[in-house]
Amino acid sequence: MAGGNTLNYAKVTDFLRGANGKASGVVVKDQLSEDTFSVKAKAIINATGPFSDSIRRLANPTLERRMRPSKGSHILLPLEVFPTEDALLIPKTVDGRVVFAIPWGGRLLVGTTEEEVAPDAEVLVTKADVAYLLQHINQYLEQPVTPNEIVSGFAGLRPLVGSTGDGDTKTLARDDVIEMDPTSGLISIMGGKWTTHRAMAEDTVHCAQQVLGMPQMDSQTRNHILYGGEGFTDDYWKKICREYQVSEGTARHLAAKFGTASGKVLELTIEAPALLRFLWEVARSGRKSSMRFGLRWRLLSRTFLLAGSACSFTRGKIVSRLPHWSVH
Ligand SMILES: Cc1cc2nc3c(=O)[nH]c(=O)nc-3n(C[C@H](O)[C@H](O)[C@H](O)COP(=O)(O)OP(=O)(O)OC[C@H]3O[C@@H](n4cnc5c(N)ncnc54)[C@H](O)[C@@H]3O)c2cc1C
Repeated sequence: MAGGNTLNYAKVTDFLRGANGKASGVVVKDQLSEDTFSVKAKAIINATGPFSDSIRRLANPTLERRMRPSKGSHILLPLEVFPTEDALLIPKTVDGRVVFAIPWGGRLLVGTTEEEVAPDAEVLVTKADVAYLLQHINQYLEQPVTPNEIVSGFAGLRPLVGSTGDGDTKTLARDDVIEMDPTSGLISIMGGKWTTHRAMAEDTVHCAQQVLGMPQMDSQTRNHILYGGEGFTDDYWKKICREYQVSEGTARHLAAKFGTASGKVLELTIEAPALLRFLWEVARSGRKSSMRFGLRWRLLSRTFLLAGSACSFTRGKIVSRLPHWSVH
């Protein structure tokens, strides 16, 4: 965090309008309490990834859609089916997609992208996705894998931006686009990639400064170390093992997800020992217990999938003890 305030489970449902018709704030609905409230703002930035169009068009219904969300599906297999530290890339399948298999978190991550879907589509790993992935990966395995061997799976939407008209999502650039809608005054940052998020943030803030008539300030994002990154080293997990007497697997998992903030997670386990057991299970099994082929699967974030599951598991037990939190 760099001085901002964040609010989770808070959905923008409408805009407030000033006398000139421009957006002067947002109406927010708390998804847990269902309370609705409004927040006034001098500048509003829409950074909602694949959902950008819904907010743009809420601010100005005459705007054309820009987003061309493309679904990516992933499954996790036991690493034993592919006993190597190398990754496999199939750069061009018969239908022109990329399929990859990467050792990740003690499992083999097999995935693909480029299936265009409607912006409001439910994002699931379907039976057809599983069949597609297994069909391709099995060409390279001595022993073909069956759906029963799948440990877990997840799908997500890439926020690709199209200019106009049709065209395949494979041909769309991964560049980001910043739009300032003159009618509503809404600034939207669309597209881009994780790997370019700092540059996207910098350009978007500069755009907001311009809209507000402020001088362009030097950005701090380039050198800003994210929470949990301060003092982190590749062997930080050893320090966690030493200081908290947890197994190597748990320490490696925590270090990879929470960095130098791992101690804070482990301190919560003193209050709720069930969390430690769960973290150990996650580190050991890659979430095996939660997934059976055919289950509906939603992606919140690829990287934070395991961390997220740890949080939701313990929400009732731990979150309720934290100040300012309640469990509904
Ligand atoms: C399968 C797949 C593979 C990818 N691979 C790579 C890769 O290898 N490298 C790379 O750099 N990038 C990759 N990406 C892209 C990367 O994940 C995205 O670019 C990045 O997550 C976009 O971040 P974002 O913050 O713009 O959007 P998101 O992470 O999608 O966040 C948007 C947020 O807006 C919120 N939101 C939506 N509507 C509302 C509303 N009405 N009110 C309030 N909040 C709202 C959502 O809840 C969400 O939290 C991949 C994406 C996918 C799906």
